[in-house]
Amino acid sequence: MGLNTTILCLAILCLLVWALRQRAIIRRLRHPEPSQHAADLHALAAARNERDSLLNAFPDACLIADAQGLIQHCNQAAISLLGPVPPRGRAVLETLRDARLAAPYLECRNSGKPAAAHIHLPAEAAPGRSPNTSSGEAVWLVDAAPLAQAEGPPHIRILLRDLSAEHQLEQIRQDFVANASHELRTPITLVDGYLETFLEAPELLDDRPAALRFLGIMRKHTGRITRIIEDMLLISRIESSDASTLRMETFALAECVQDLIDRLESLIRAQHATVSIQLHDPGVTLHGDRFYWTQILFNLIENALKQNPKPGLQVIIHSEPSDAGLRIEITDNGIGIPAADMPFIFKRFYRVEKHHSQNQIKGTGLGLSIVKRAIEAHGGSITCHSVPGVRTSFQITLPEQEL
Ligand code: ATP
Ligand code: MG
Repeated sequence: MGLNTTILCLAILCLLVWALRQRAIIRRLRHPEPSQHAADLHALAAARNERDSLLNAFPDACLIADAQGLIQHCNQAAISLLGPVPPRGRAVLETLRDARLAAPYLECRNSGKPAAAHIHLPAEAAPGRSPNTSSGEAVWLVDAAPLAQAEGPPHIRILLRDLSAEHQLEQIRQDFVANASHELRTPITLVDGYLETFLEAPELLDDRPAALRFLGIMRKHTGRITRIIEDMLLISRIESSDASTLRMETFALAECVQDLIDRLESLIRAQHATVSIQLHDPGVTLHGDRFYWTQILFNLIENALKQNPKPGLQVIIHSEPSDAGLRIEITDNGIGIPAADMPFIFKRFYRVEKHHSQNQIKGTGLGLSIVKRAIEAHGGSITCHSVPGVRTSFQITLPEQEL
């Protein structure tokens, strides 16, 4: 935001300097001295060129409108944003299209004072169809201020800046903090409740079996708190990773999956499930950070197992070459994911609630968001298809160069 504010101030400063210089030159041109006239014309052209190149260097769209509301000047960013018809000569209201975007301009025109606002719009109503948002909402800063003229009513300069990406990041951060505190509060309140009961009625400790049962429940909930904190730390670690911070190595996919199956042995047995590895080439290798690949595959296999307690569950880890490079698929024939939940499963803390029985400690709902982010850090992508009760598959696609 600091850099953006500096850019905005610089743009405003440039416009002011340019306007003052132009005003002085125009005044002299109106009352010319013959020798001075040609030099002033030259100076005026030079000042305009300077203004154009300065304003074109700014990433924000910048418009200057005359007193009739017609655009007299616009920089390159404005032409790209508000095209395809060049904005020069058109009315501001027609060019900005949406009345919400034009509000600060109209306020400035009516009051003669600067006006600025953050305008929230549906993405489809935003100028240039704001590519910076996947949330469906675009946010634009519109800043309008009068620009002094040699004579007559002042022109108005309008700056437009797309803040959608920053807004979306801020939204994600706020949601994350809200969800994390909510998720942590539940187990903490439960543990606190049991402790309070013991303190208020210490005789309960004499009932050894009951006391041990309560302690067991508390232990489960503190385990969940630890898990949430570990997952949150992992997320923040992955979010600050890119290909350059990953510890890349080449390792055999079959070996990595077999290790995980061994780790999940007791769950596999408890669920009466079978897990099989079907690789197109038993020696297929992955080039990536093994720590993250272990997290990715562990979560996908564990999800398939733990959501599906009915006997006869089959989980298959399959690989095959694809147009893009390599496809790895984790498939199960369990309970599946309802279509209505599908758009949300990769979001942080999202769980399909009905999969969890009431007396079980829930997962954190962070697993799939970690999986997605870790795969993306490796240049890949993940999708999910599910026909509940028939087939649920998570497909990972990796580019050729990552193999
Ligand atoms: P955690 O991974 O932190 O233990 P979790 O497993 O509940 O918690 P995710 O891995 O993010 O969280 O999964 C989100 C939700 O997606 C799960 O709660 C579950 O409802 C659903 N889900 C994921 N994989 C499957 C699957 N193979 N079959 C059925 N439901 C699934
Ligand atoms: Mg999970």
